[in-house]
Amino acid sequence: MSVPNQAGEDKLSQPQKPTGLNELNICGWKVSSCESHILKSKCENEVECVDARNLCSVCLYNQQLDLPHIPDMVFPDNKLSILHEPSGFGIEFSALRALQRVDSGKRDVKIACAEEWKASRSDQPHIEHEAKPFDWTFTTDYKGTLFGGLEAESSHLHIDLEKLKRREQILFYSDITLFEDELHDNGTAICSVKIRVMPTGFFILLRYFLRVDNVLVRINDTRLYHEFGTAHIIREFSGRESKIEDLRVPTALLTDPNEINQLLPLKSSTCEILKLPSASSKPPPEVTPIDPNLNP
Ligand SMILES: [Zn+2]
Repeated sequence: MSVPNQAGEDKLSQPQKPTGLNELNICGWKVSSCESHILKSKCENEVECVDARNLCSVCLYNQQLDLPHIPDMVFPDNKLSILHEPSGFGIEFSALRALQRVDSGKRDVKIACAEEWKASRSDQPHIEHEAKPFDWTFTTDYKGTLFGGLEAESSHLHIDLEKLKRREQILFYSDITLFEDELHDNGTAICSVKIRVMPTGFFILLRYFLRVDNVLVRINDTRLYHEFGTAHIIREFSGRESKIEDLRVPTALLTDPNEINQLLPLKSSTCEILKLPSASSKPPPEVTPIDPNLNP
């Protein structure tokens, strides 16, 4: 959950500039993470934006998203970006792109979920109008935005999780929320991205977590791993979900994505590699760890 910490509150007091920017340069990669204020409810300018090339965040979201409403909390400037400097290839993670993957109302699977939810509340007729024909759970299968010509191709390679369990120095760490919604007090939907950079490589987890109280839990995870010196990034996607009645676990567990994830049946998965132009020949780096909480 994104309860603002002290630093977060400081950032909210100066909403005009993204302040929580952290960067690390390592082995030809530039890693940047930025945390900033929540999306406002109305246009940020006194005279509402008219120039389509120069919109405020609010008007940009309205223009780019075909949704009747957006999550309660959207962080338009929270971004994680990984740039491979020699090639210009990279990946970025942003709330706008994640929300562009939300169904605006056509796919059957989402409607089925809405029906279940409605059925679970048939004793509360006022809920009826809430089950709008768009995906009110904001489910997204977003896997990050590739840029600079980087392309994905399917692969049999998998991330070596044993390697990731090794104890290594953490040179850079960031955990940022892209959006969050309390589903009108009927659960939670949250999309966040985390990165950790170690001397040997980096690992990213982009997670969409949904809990509709008494109905279902769903987790869409995208994991990316790059080992420095290799010519690819491995990207794995998994979609897991279960009806809560099938889980038979204590309620407290349902609020912990890390715990519940292991109990959810796998519904879909893909494995891809993102190919870099050539292997970096640089030796493992000598860098000084930076304080991830240090503002510039
Ligand atoms: Zn505006």
